[in-house]
This record gives sequence, C-alpha cells and structure tokens, in this order.
Amino acid sequence: MPVEPRLTNELFTADLEVRLRSAEASLLLRRFRSARASSAAATIAMLDRDVMKQYGQNLVVIEPAEEGEFAFLYAGNQVPDDAGTPLGAKTTAAIGKDVAGFYRLGCREAALAQDAVCVNHLSGPDARVHRWECLFLPITDAEGRPIIVALCMPREFKHEFFRAILDAMPHGAYVAAPVRDAQNEIVDARIIAANARGIEISGQPGPQALQGLSITAAWADGTALGPWDRHLAVLRSGKPQSFDYHHSGDAGSRWYQMHAAPMRDGLLISVVDITDKQRDFLELVHQRKMLMDEMEQRRGLEQELWALAHLDPLTALPNRRAFRDAAMLKLAEAQTAHRPCAMVTIDIDHFKRVNDAHGHSAGDTVLRRVADIIKALLRPNTDIAARMGGEEFTILLPDTDAESAMAFAEKLRRRVEQTVVAAGEQEIRATISLGIAMNRKTSNLDDLINRADRALYTAKRSGRNKVATEIDVQAGPKGSTEAA
Ligand code: GH3
Ligand code: MG
Ligand code: MG
Repeated sequence: MPVEPRLTNELFTADLEVRLRSAEASLLLRRFRSARASSAAATIAMLDRDVMKQYGQNLVVIEPAEEGEFAFLYAGNQVPDDAGTPLGAKTTAAIGKDVAGFYRLGCREAALAQDAVCVNHLSGPDARVHRWECLFLPITDAEGRPIIVALCMPREFKHEFFRAILDAMPHGAYVAAPVRDAQNEIVDARIIAANARGIEISGQPGPQALQGLSITAAWADGTALGPWDRHLAVLRSGKPQSFDYHHSGDAGSRWYQMHAAPMRDGLLISVVDITDKQRDFLELVHQRKMLMDEMEQRRGLEQELWALAHLDPLTALPNRRAFRDAAMLKLAEAQTAHRPCAMVTIDIDHFKRVNDAHGHSAGDTVLRRVADIIKALLRPNTDIAARMGGEEFTILLPDTDAESAMAFAEKLRRRVEQTVVAAGEQEIRATISLGIAMNRKTSNLDDLINRADRALYTAKRSGRNKVATEIDVQAGPKGSTEAA
C-alpha cells in the first residue's frame, strides 16, 4: 500500500469530539456513540429517516470488497468523485486514485479501530471544495455484516481559499471591467473586485463602497487611481504595464508602484505602497547632493589654497617656491638626458620710475602685462615661468640651446618694448633686461639662476633693454642701446 502524503489525507483517530469542525459530523458522532452504548454494535438502523433527511446528501455507505478495495453501496449526490460526478455504485478500484486513496484510508482505519475516525481530505486543484472533513463510522448491516458509513462535509470551498490568499497579500489588488460608449470605445473602467489591502489603500470604508466605482475616482479624496491613460493603454493593447505613481491627497503624499495587466476583457491592477522606500531614496538623494556640494566647496577651497601656496596673486604666474620645485625636476631630467636647458632671468628697467611717475597701481598693471606677454610665449607643459618677486621674472626653457634661448629672449624683449600699457588716461611704455645661462655638466638650479642673474646684471650695466649671455659677462652684451 502506498503511503499517503499527510497533507492530502490527514487522519485523526482520537479526540474526535474536539477535532471535528462541522456540526453535522459532531451530531452523527454522538448518535454513533449512543447507538454503541445501547447495544454492542451500531447498525445500519442508526441511519433512520431523520438521519437520511438531514445528512443523506453527504453520506456514503461502503462495504469491503476484494483485495483491500471498497464498494460504494450508496453515495449522496453532494459527494463527488475526482471528476466531480456522483460516486454512484462504483468501487475504489474504479475511481481516481486520490479519492480512492482517501476512502481506502478512512474505511481501513475505521474497520481496524472498530471506532470512528476522521480524515481531512485536500482536493485537487480543480475541485470546487478545497478541503473535506469526513467522519468514518464502522457499523453492521441488517444481516450483521461489517460496513462503513462516511459523512463527507465540505470544510472549506476553493473560492474562500483563494479569497483568503488575496486578502493575506501585502499588495492591493483590483479587478476592473471596461465601460464602453455607444461607439464601443472604452471610456472608463469600474472596479468589480478588490482584496482587503486594496480596499485599505483606496481609503474606501468597505468592499461595497469600492464595488462599481470608476477607477478614475477610486481614491477616497476623489483623485485618480493612477494615471488612467496607462490603464487605458493596457486595456487597448492587451499588454501589461508597470509604473510608479505619486498620489497626493488629504491623507498626505504617497508613492505607489502599480502594475496593470489584462484580465479577461478588463484589468487586474496591483498596487504596492512604496512611500517609505521612496522617502528613504529621496533622503539619500538629498544627502548625496549635500555631500557633493560639500565636496565641490572643498575642491574650490583646496584650489584656492593651492593657488595661494603656488601662484603669485598679482600675475597668476607660479611663485618662487613653485618655480623652484618644478624647475628642479625639469633641470634634473635635462641633466640625466644630456639635453640643453636655458635659464632666462628678467628685470623691468627703471621700474621705480614707472611707479613714481604713474602710481603703484599703474605699476601693477605693467607687471601684469609683462607677465601676460611672458605666458603667451611659453610652450605649454614644457617651459616654466615665475614671478620671483618685485619686478623680476624667471623662465626655464628645457630642450633649448643657446641660440634658441637668445631668439626667445630677443622676441620677449621686443614684445615688451613694443607694448603700450594703458593705465587709466596714461600710456606707459616699459622695457626689460634679460640674462641667459645654459646648463653645464654639473649644473644645479641655484648655479644656473646665479649665472643668468650675472648676465642680467651685465645687460643692465650696458644700458638696459638688452639680452646678455654669460659670454657677454666678460665681453659686453649685444642688443639695442637703452631707449631714453
Ligand atoms: P633697474 O632698471 O635697475 O632694475 O631699476 P628699478 O627701478 O627697476 O630697480 P629697483 O629694484 O630699484 O626698483 C624696483 C621697484 O619695483 C621698487 C619697488 O617699489 C617696485 N615694486 C616691487 N614690487 C612691486 C609691486 O608689486 N608693484 C609695484 N607697482 N611696484 C613694485
Ligand atoms: Mg629689480
Ligand atoms: Mg628693475
């Protein structure tokens, strides 16, 4: 004999008085007990007119047949077989295996115990009754032969079972049927069913209030139950859609995730309240933005600090310290690679006079202008220039030989000479003197700057507005004579 799964057929042999749920089964059990008490065995006589009238529809009378099977002598028409048709005068061998297994178990156990047993039977997926409660009683027929009487009472119907599932779900569910106009166009949909959570979300007092309500007016405050056009699109296309929906009503602002799917000729709309999640999300977005703002602010501050530490505030050229750091690296590279590298130092001629004649602020304008002229001549990512202080500038030209350095310096000198600086109403002309030094086998930065400064001094001494090299330090510089 195959072992029945416990869930399909649940057998109880004791404490039936407390276990039985149906009033009918409890009553019949009491009759059985009192019939037993008055004579040794309960007989078919206990199924009198009264009993048959009351329970006949749900009664089955069974007798043992051959090879462990059972034959149905009588079956009330409320007791169907697997296929939903009355059991009639069949045997357990001739009906579906699930129902046959259930009757075999009940009859066998009742006969074995010679007492009442109860079997709860779980039906197949298509049955109208979801769960049966069946009382099996061993009695004897008129001739004293053993028979079994079974009372089968529906314990739960399928629709109740599914209703319970729907009501236990955390999602709101609505079924809506389309409303058509005279041209057969869908113009609205009305709610024809909803689960418990659906009623709660809708804000309506109960299922009656929701039933028949237009889905564009299903919320308690009269605003739309989600965007109607999305629902309409599902009705027309037959394709499901998911979307988020923000609802603000009297009860406050809430976010819902909606899913609309075609169901028969209407819609199944399921709704999940995602307000808490959405609030967390928005809070996160807000915090992220604050963090980004702070980071941005910090970046700005860092840039300011960097500029303060590395740039000359007047000309925005690197300051002396930044120049030294960068120039040291470039020079080291040139030394290692045995490449030429030129140092140019610059000093504005008679700058004191400029200040004296035009004012300090005009002097500043000249300084800025000279810086701009220098910047315009630099090769990006290669040359490094700096304002070393006062009206003195320095330029390091990597990969530059003496001849190119001279050409560069001359060009710079000429540009400054040709520039007219407008400061208010006044026009200022300025000139610069320049000194050039080239790197040698054992050059370091200070040595290079010192030698360039000596050349610059020579340029000054020999009349200003000139470029001088180290050769000129002894021989005297080339270039134009000093302008006025
Ligand atoms: P020389 O041709 O020999 O270089 O003459 P000079 O007048 O340029 O030389 P000196 O070093 O005597 O004068 C430099 C002047 O630069 C003195 C100072 O007032 C001025 N100076 C220094 N820094 C600034 C500045 O930031 N702005 C202005 N406007 N003037 C400055
Ligand atoms: Mg000076
Ligand atoms: Mg000067």
